[in-house]
Amino acid sequence: MTKIIIIGAKGRMGQALVSCAKNFRDFEVVTAIGRGDDLSAVIGQCDVVIDFSSHTATTGIVELCAKNKKAIVIGTTGFSDAEKSAIENQRSTIPIVLASNFSTGVNTLFWLTRKAAEILGTDFDLEVVEMHHRLKKDAPSGTAKSLAEILADVRKQQLEKVARHGRVGIIGARTSEEIGVHSIRGGDVVGDHTVIFANVGERVELTHKASSRDTFANGALRAAAWLAKQKPGLYDMQDVLGLK
Ligand code: NAD
Repeated sequence: MTKIIIIGAKGRMGQALVSCAKNFRDFEVVTAIGRGDDLSAVIGQCDVVIDFSSHTATTGIVELCAKNKKAIVIGTTGFSDAEKSAIENQRSTIPIVLASNFSTGVNTLFWLTRKAAEILGTDFDLEVVEMHHRLKKDAPSGTAKSLAEILADVRKQQLEKVARHGRVGIIGARTSEEIGVHSIRGGDVVGDHTVIFANVGERVELTHKASSRDTFANGALRAAAWLAKQKPGLYDMQDVLGLK
C-alpha cells in the first residue's frame, strides 16, 4: 500500500487526483491539503507527496520532502529557471518525478515529435501551438515548452535563443532557425497541443487533445506507485512509462 498526500487538493487537478485515487486499490490518500494547510504536520505519514499547486509553493514543498526523505511527484508548471534548479538540486536526496504532462498520449507526442524532427530535418519550419482554458495562469504551457525543448534539442539549438513567442507588427520574414510558440486561451479547454512542421509544398501536424483531467491524474498516480520503489534521482514520465 502506497500512502500519498495530495497538495493543491481544492484545485482542478487536485480534485481529479482525489477522485481517481479511489480507483487504485494499492493507494491510501493519507490527506489532501491546500493553501494555508501545514504539510510539515502530516508529511511523516506518507510515502509519496503529489504536488499540483503553484510554482511559488513547489520549491518549499520539495525542500520539506528532502528533509523528511519523502518521494515527490511534481505536476505543477510555470517554474522560473531558479525554481527549476532548486528542485533539481534535491535529485541526490530523494526520488522526484517532474513532468509537464502526465498523459500517456502526450508522452507519445513527445516521442513522435523527436522522431519527426529527426526525419524531416532543417528544411521544415517549426511551430508549437497550444490552447487551454481561460483560467490557466502560466503561458506557454509546460507541455508546449517541453515540445519546443525537444525540437531545439534535435537541432542542437538553445531554446531561449530561438523561441519566438507570438508575432506582431512589421517583423519581416520568418528565419529558418526560429521555433514559434503560441498560446491560445479560452473557455474550458483541458489542453490541446499541435506541433507544426511546415515546408514549401507540404506540412506535417502532430496534435494531441485532452478532454479530461483524469488522464493527467491517473498518470500522476501511476508515477507515484512507480516512484515509491525508486532510488533518489530526477525522473520524468518517459522513465515511468519505460519509453527511454
Ligand atoms: P488550480 O488553480 O485549479 O489549482 C491549484 C490549487 O493549488 C488551488 O486550490 C490553490 O489554492 C492551491 N495552492 C496554491 N498555492 C498553494 C500553496 N502554497 N500550498 C498549497 N496549495 C496551494 O490549478 P490546476 O488547473 O489544478 O493546475 C495546478 C497546476 O498543475 C498548474 O501549474 C498546472 O499548469 C499544472 N498542470 C499540470 C498537468 C500535468 O500533467 N503535469 C496537468 C494539468 C495541470
